Amino acid sequence: MGWSLTVGRIAGVAIKIHVTFWLLMLWIGVSAARAGGLNAAAQSLAFVALLFVCVVAHEFGHILVARRYGIATREVTLLPIGGVASLQRMPDTPRRELAVALAGPAVNLVIALVLFAALGSFGVASVAGLANPGVSMLARLAAANLVLAVFNLLPAFPMDGGRVLHALLAMRMSEARATELAANVGQACAFVLGFLGLFGNPMLLFVAIFVYVAAAEEAGASRLKQGLKGLTAGDLMETRIASLPLEASLQEALNLALTTEQSHFPLVDAFRKPAALATRAALLGAVQTRDPGEPAESVAQAPAQSISASTRAEKAFELLQAGEISALCVVDEAGALVGLLPRSALAERMLFSAAKPGWRMPREAARP
Ligand SMILES: [Zn+2]
Repeated sequence: MGWSLTVGRIAGVAIKIHVTFWLLMLWIGVSAARAGGLNAAAQSLAFVALLFVCVVAHEFGHILVARRYGIATREVTLLPIGGVASLQRMPDTPRRELAVALAGPAVNLVIALVLFAALGSFGVASVAGLANPGVSMLARLAAANLVLAVFNLLPAFPMDGGRVLHALLAMRMSEARATELAANVGQACAFVLGFLGLFGNPMLLFVAIFVYVAAAEEAGASRLKQGLKGLTAGDLMETRIASLPLEASLQEALNLALTTEQSHFPLVDAFRKPAALATRAALLGAVQTRDPGEPAESVAQAPAQSISASTRAEKAFELLQAGEISALCVVDEAGALVGLLPRSALAERMLFSAAKPGWRMPREAARP
């Protein structure tokens, strides 16, 4: 996510704080200072900081369970409305999706229970006094964790409760139908939240807009992904592509690039195995800074990421979505290049399949 500052790294996951969160801290600090002086400001900021430690713990609930299923996470971003963990992909079965979704709120529930236990009965009474500065900070923190757990379990896609609902539905019906239903419930929730936000906490209004847009996006992405069902990387790849020998110079690469609109140029060895991949932008950009005699490989990404032509299209989609790479080299059983699958081409084919369900693109035989 843009406009974020990396503040640290926990278990290989970058912790980022979005600029809007710094602005929120500033606003809380300034308004608390104006109302009750510097001491009050420090107290308020300390509370928000502690609360966001709990939000990070919540995200790590998701992250660590996902990791058990072999799903890596690159970063967690803190926004004023909560944390967002960028999981590499969604879990592949409803049961796993359920476990990952429940793990976050479960962490807040445990924190709340531990704090309430430590505080004794006084803690329970403080739930009503969440906004009361007279109540001890730990009691407020315990109450806030309870609120976090309950709030996140609202069935508003893509909040955790929405994922729980989606997983439960997907156990009983097709993935497409489950997503459609969960997204509809999520958008209905967004309307209710927005309505409450109009009369109460304006923060709810932001959450409502976020939920509404995200639910629509999720439903759209799911419909597009349905279009990939039953297809392989070989069905989707671009086959009329030009490649370069591994030892090609920048000059040769540029000469080739200027004869085509191709977005990526595989550099192949003597057995046509892709060794590196140069983007069009990198080649054209090198004109200013490099010598034409330098090897084209010096501006390419190496090694090139290759997948077999028989790989499921959904798998190719996940790879392109998760990684920093923008194209996959498609290879035959011997590992020789037969095609190219850039992200843009995949998106185009997905739109095409969504518009014409069931249509099979006529495929010419891949070149040897
Ligand atoms: Zn969560």
